[in-house]
Amino acid sequence: MSLYKILGGFALAVAAATAAAQQYPTKPITVVVPFTAGGPTDTVTRSLAAAMGKQLGQSVVVENVGGAGGTVGAARVKNAAPDGYTLLLHHIGMSTAPALYRKLQFNPLTDFETVGLVVDVPMTLIARSDFPAANFNEFLKYAKDNKAKMNLANAGIGSASHLCGLLFMSSVQTDFTTVPFKGTSDAMNALLGKQVDFLCDQTTNTTGQIQAGAVKVYGVTSAKRVASLPNVPTLQEDGLKGFEVGVWHGVYAPKGTPKAVIDKLVAAMQAAMKDPDFAKRMADLGATVYGPDKANPAAHSAHLKAEIDKWAPIIKAAGQYAD
Ligand code: ASP
Repeated sequence: MSLYKILGGFALAVAAATAAAQQYPTKPITVVVPFTAGGPTDTVTRSLAAAMGKQLGQSVVVENVGGAGGTVGAARVKNAAPDGYTLLLHHIGMSTAPALYRKLQFNPLTDFETVGLVVDVPMTLIARSDFPAANFNEFLKYAKDNKAKMNLANAGIGSASHLCGLLFMSSVQTDFTTVPFKGTSDAMNALLGKQVDFLCDQTTNTTGQIQAGAVKVYGVTSAKRVASLPNVPTLQEDGLKGFEVGVWHGVYAPKGTPKAVIDKLVAAMQAAMKDPDFAKRMADLGATVYGPDKANPAAHSAHLKAEIDKWAPIIKAAGQYAD
């Protein structure tokens, strides 16, 4: 083949990709949630997907790909076509996975395009409704004598519930048996069914159960109390100095997704985050929605990098690894 033909073919392919990016989206978009349906990440994603769909004029469909603390779903998006039709909504786990997994299937910093930060969600320490401790002090007292028979549920190594559990165990200097699920919707079901004893989970999954009195609650992981749960103390008020975890969430696309597509997604996401239905749902569930200063690729990338650097030494000190 002549050089002219090769160059001509290349130019045609570039023109076609540019045209596709300009017309984007012409079909439904899939957003992968790397945890099970009905859980906290799923709840945030379905709300955002509905609001973004209105902006983009296409449906945004949620696909749940749970497993290995969110790393299976993230790897699936890494390997998807970089055309804007497969996205990922993941949380703080994107920044802790590199320190936790020896054989991680992706590099959060180099295998994805960041689209923007979405929400920051506090966590709550909760127990089954018949757990024999009315407050945090009683919880600690009970745990001292009964730790061998207490089970702490989580959504697998790399999940926010796992991270919170690790920090909690190191704060109270007690090890508990952990029980992993593919998402905290399953962990919550096990807690409601009294098959596990306690769980640290995001308010986007726990608010309704706490308000209904279906679980016991001992504290929130934010620096201040959460407006939708005014009677729940912070874990810092409970005496755990410096105990603070905010589960930030962001949207990602596979590396190489055209800039024109990312720009459209950023605009749609920023507009969706101002949608009254989305804003109200997030506020009711204790989540703080980021402003446009954070809901953009540059701020998201900087935050991701800073969080990877922040968590690596803490996780190393906790001595937790997975393959
Ligand atoms: N966010 C996860 C979920 O949606 C749970 C977690 O990270 O702990 O199930």
